[in-house]
Amino acid sequence: MAEKTASSDQQQLHVFFFPFMSPGHQIPMLDMARLFAKRGIKTTIVTTPCNLSRFQSIIDRDRQCVNVEIDLHILKFPSDTVGLPHNCENLDSLPSRLMSNSFSRAVMMLQPQSDDLVRQHQPDAIISDLNIPWTAQIAEKYSIPRIVFHGTSCFSLCVTDSVSKYKPYEGVSNDWMPFLVPGLPDRIHITMSQMPGRFFRNLGLQEFFMQFVEAERNTYGVVANTFYEIEPKYIEHYKKIIGKKIWAVGPVSLCNEKDMDMAERGNKASIDKDQCLTWLDSKEPNSVIYVCFGGLCAFAESQLVEIGLGLEAANYSFIWVIRDGFGDGLAVEDLEDRVKGRGLIIRGWAPQLLILNHPAVGGFISHCGWNSVLEAVSSGVPMITWPLFGEQFYNATFVAKQLGIGFGIGVYTGLKWGEEEQAGALVKRYRVAAVVSRLMGDRGSVKEMRERASRLRQMARSAMNEDGSSNGNLDLLIEDLSTLKKERLAKGDEVS
Ligand code: UDP
Repeated sequence: MAEKTASSDQQQLHVFFFPFMSPGHQIPMLDMARLFAKRGIKTTIVTTPCNLSRFQSIIDRDRQCVNVEIDLHILKFPSDTVGLPHNCENLDSLPSRLMSNSFSRAVMMLQPQSDDLVRQHQPDAIISDLNIPWTAQIAEKYSIPRIVFHGTSCFSLCVTDSVSKYKPYEGVSNDWMPFLVPGLPDRIHITMSQMPGRFFRNLGLQEFFMQFVEAERNTYGVVANTFYEIEPKYIEHYKKIIGKKIWAVGPVSLCNEKDMDMAERGNKASIDKDQCLTWLDSKEPNSVIYVCFGGLCAFAESQLVEIGLGLEAANYSFIWVIRDGFGDGLAVEDLEDRVKGRGLIIRGWAPQLLILNHPAVGGFISHCGWNSVLEAVSSGVPMITWPLFGEQFYNATFVAKQLGIGFGIGVYTGLKWGEEEQAGALVKRYRVAAVVSRLMGDRGSVKEMRERASRLRQMARSAMNEDGSSNGNLDLLIEDLSTLKKERLAKGDEVS
């Protein structure tokens, strides 16, 4: 190998990003990588062909329009080896949730290729999703720091930690009895049926979860898509729990300032950007309710029918996103005719950021994935919470009880992941219509919710401004990694 001189190239920090292949993890990590690249950090994303196709256009535009370069390294995803369909490289393309174990095995098999890449390119740090535990071994092998990204709020990480540490559910007689979660800055109650563990119980993923926990022990710190002002007590509490550094650098979605970036974020949208904007432009401010359940939730047809009829009955304008491949037999054409001009149904991928940012949108029915929560907060949009599984119940509690910018649709029991497809209609049309009318009618406490949401929007944007907390934390993270690099170089000089 050619001997390295102390060139500016050598001084430049080089960070490898390993995003996990699911929308809620990959999307914020791409935003984060772009934030690094915009600061002149040499930035590399390690991904697979089908996942790259979801964000290549944004990377190309950054290069062409703002001269921001991100390097890409492509791994071959072993779908065929583990029995997944060809080109199934993302959790949202699994034909069945029962294949999650195969998907996780395929992710584990990416280690040798990634090890080769790190050996060849010698990055100074790895920023890895929690769900890719082997990056800890690679980081240790090449003596570089690993920073982990969880993709959720510190609030939910703290609740999860307390539940597992104190086991407050022992002694609770049934799944639906609320119990206090001890050791937290506030009095938080949950029920057993809302605990994330049960959601994945049937999928054989336990062995992988153990590895995530183990990998976190070998981690230098945590980078979080949150901002200090939204959960100061929980960021501090989480720092104490892990005894490591944590940098809150979000909401990272705010790095998407151009309509085109918002429209193409995460995947190719199934509606044309201009068509979507023209439709929204024709509506009054705060008059449209947006309904979307993230990249992974998949409702039974009977539930979709109830949602559709509920939205029709509520008589407010709406945008409703139905995931690709679901509700195909649904009689939505009739519904579409009946609500023509008032209801827009997007089948497939919606340009969520573009929609939430539009002044016409005044409410969001959400499953409370953390990205969706933060995106609603950043747009000042109050929420109707409809959590399904995972840590979504914790996020829903956070939205309603801590932030005071939403209320529940009336779902109290979590499902196992995938169960929503068989669960039938848990929420009936009358309920959907009632909550939409309550939120959009601005009755009672909703006005205050809207004001709080608007203040939070301002806080989120300030955090990402030049003198904001998240912007400052990103500076600190980069400084920290640069110092570690200098120390490593100095050690290398001493040895040679
Ligand atoms: N998203 C989108 N269009 C869609 C569905 C989802 O842009 O049609 C984005 C959404 O903006 C968010 C991410 O996908 O950034 C979903 O992440 P979240 O944490 O909300 O939920 P998950 O999919 O992880 O359950």
